[in-house]
Amino acid sequence: NNLLLDVRNMSVDYYAANGAVHAVRDVNLSLKRGEIVGLAGESGSGKSTLAYAIARLLRPPAAITAGQVLYYPSIQEGERRTAFTAALEQANSKITDPVNSPTQSSGVDILKLTPPQLRAFRWNELSIVFQSAMNALNPVMDIGTQIIDVLRAHQPERSVQSCKERARELLKLVGIAPDRLRSYPHELSGGMRQRVIIAIALALKPELIIMDEPTTALDVVVQREILDLISSLCKETGTALIFITHDLSLLLELVDRVAVMYAGKLVEVADRNNFYAHARHPYSYGLMNSFPTLHGPRRKMVGIAGSPPDLRNIPAGCPFHDRCPMAFEACHQVIPALRTPFADAPEQIAACHLYDPKITRTTQMPGPAD
Ligand code: SF4
Ligand code: MG
Repeated sequence: NNLLLDVRNMSVDYYAANGAVHAVRDVNLSLKRGEIVGLAGESGSGKSTLAYAIARLLRPPAAITAGQVLYYPSIQEGERRTAFTAALEQANSKITDPVNSPTQSSGVDILKLTPPQLRAFRWNELSIVFQSAMNALNPVMDIGTQIIDVLRAHQPERSVQSCKERARELLKLVGIAPDRLRSYPHELSGGMRQRVIIAIALALKPELIIMDEPTTALDVVVQREILDLISSLCKETGTALIFITHDLSLLLELVDRVAVMYAGKLVEVADRNNFYAHARHPYSYGLMNSFPTLHGPRRKMVGIAGSPPDLRNIPAGCPFHDRCPMAFEACHQVIPALRTPFADAPEQIAACHLYDPKITRTTQMPGPAD
């Protein structure tokens, strides 16, 4: 079984005085082991909220109103039990929810984990790098101590010496000389601090890392280096990655798949090549044209006029219809379903009436992205 994570029918609301904000709306997304997925969309599209929901990091007034996050821990014959599978087994001996048995191929619902199971899940199975992570390093502690602290907190049985060795190994992995263990964050450049954060995320060899725009504070050249590093490390270690970005231009070459969110919904999912050559959703099409490419001729900055709808009061029909250059009558009335109508790309799905043969359209389908 190659499946690592399966998010099903996830919805998240934020409760505000003037009504619930429907930040994530019925999202389905799965991830294979070792796969790198770019989760893209404008700010406010729900991508960070979805990631936080997956990691169970949402706090009130945000609440998951529906859905499951099924996780498939790797359990191989004869393999040493991980901290996480041990925590699951311990709970099962006391008979809890049968869904959360690691021996079942149905996966473990992360939303149902007990606090000790969740502690074992974090870092060991999933680590998250936040948007402002670079500045989250403790300024009065050298970076070696900070890496070792994470190792010791999750592997208390591990010797100090072995933690030190692992810390040196991790620094080497992210391209920092191991003698930098004694450096303080202010002695490092922004790019190096970001590398330290990546080293910490990898410290306990998680199966999955979620990164929420981790490089936006860096200049473009350094961002590029860091992204290359992240993707090559993930490929090397077989770690799956969900990379959240509003800027596809930096990312597109590094991901296996792209998932695009708009107004809380997934509107297109495609493998990188299909997305690059032929994004189908008019919003993706707009995203693709709204940045200059790194290679080849610079594209015109077309951008997408207008702004996303109010998520307290979502208009009828396609949520993109106000901004969509291809909208026609049906778009104002009927919500398009996320489906696969593409004979040439069975893995590509898009939520758009242009591709629904049952709906009479009055506009042309968009052609290839260039
Ligand atoms: Fe545009 Fe209509 Fe497709 Fe929505 S359904 S993206 S409004 S063409
Ligand atoms: Mg965000």
